[in-house]
Amino acid sequence: MTFEEIKALDHQYVMQSYGRFDVAVDHGRGATLWDTQGREYIDFTSGIGVCSLGYADEGWVNAITEQAGKLGHISNLFYAEPYVKAAEKLCRKAGMSNVFFANSGAESNEGLIKLARKYSFDKYGKGRGTIITLHKSFHGRTITTLSATGQDVFHNYFFPFTEGFRHADANDFDSVEAMAGHDVCAVMFELIQGEGGVLPLDREFVQKVSDLCAKRDWLLLIDEVQTGVGRTGSLFAFQQYGIQPDAVSFAKGIAGGLPFGGVMAGEKCRNVFTTGTHGTTFGGNPISAAAACYVLDRMDDAMFQSVQEKGAYLRSRIEALDLPCLGATRGMGLMIGIDVKGERTNKELAAKLIQSGLLVLTAGPGLRLLPPLVITQEEMDKGLAILKAALS
Ligand code: PLP
Repeated sequence: MTFEEIKALDHQYVMQSYGRFDVAVDHGRGATLWDTQGREYIDFTSGIGVCSLGYADEGWVNAITEQAGKLGHISNLFYAEPYVKAAEKLCRKAGMSNVFFANSGAESNEGLIKLARKYSFDKYGKGRGTIITLHKSFHGRTITTLSATGQDVFHNYFFPFTEGFRHADANDFDSVEAMAGHDVCAVMFELIQGEGGVLPLDREFVQKVSDLCAKRDWLLLIDEVQTGVGRTGSLFAFQQYGIQPDAVSFAKGIAGGLPFGGVMAGEKCRNVFTTGTHGTTFGGNPISAAAACYVLDRMDDAMFQSVQEKGAYLRSRIEALDLPCLGATRGMGLMIGIDVKGERTNKELAAKLIQSGLLVLTAGPGLRLLPPLVITQEEMDKGLAILKAALS
């Protein structure tokens, strides 16, 4: 199909909830994509942090095709090898005790919220279901995860929203403490606020909140949907913050391009989800779990080291370009935010870059880069050359 045919069908038959760019992507390899007209793009987005191993990774393709030829789906009424292997790998590598598998980030965060509320209900009874989250956070698009999200722009149209969330200011411990009350059961945050603008939390703030949680028996819930699976230069970002969360959500990069996600928790929460209290038809799907096993096997120290080096390289080169429309960079590993200066908005700059052959994302008022973790030196340099030419 031509680009025009695809676009026409989209407009006729698909609900127009996405503001799409005028590109129809056809296929990819590594961190390079081609559109339906054969034009090449360097990808600094990974499908918003999903394609951690880039496109068409041979081992990944083999892992999922082999599993598809064996068992494509089986209900959670039965045991199967792929999901137990994925669970074991995750727990061992992340230092957690047990996992619940889901399919998306929002659904994983729903699990995180339910886990915290039931933990508290089991121990203290009703009336202790409030969760403190942060302004500028993003936790998903379901009614409850929209409530958890600390941005008013998301609290519209879909009334009534789920009760039981209070929003504090990031990196302001007093603001979190001010939210305390007999009704609180947990604090939940991203360690780098992704959609909010790639805003890393201060280490001291995170450690103080962690101590407060321990003191009050609030669960410390970390949303690693965007920061997880090697993105920041460690398997999970919390491993660089010197904290041990009670439960962590993950999704996006975990299966390298298939829908997968979940919640992993420490020993304290082992017996919270008892039979029948939580579930989902596709959770732990064998093909997605086989993909996750493959992705997790690729997450070793050499991968984390290269993610840190590539992130530092991209940031230093972008800052050295000293472009009039771009300011400081921030982030960890290959999760990079860039300030936008001058008259053009981040959306205008992103559109210009995409038109010029470099896929980038926006976040808050800035630009955001989430390249595949396996991006090569040549691909990074090609992307930087496009950036320089398009924005100079
Ligand atoms: N949590 C965070 C931190 C995210 O960045 C996102 C998506 O961008 C979500 C949750 C929601 O994930 P999903 O779109 O898979 O539901």
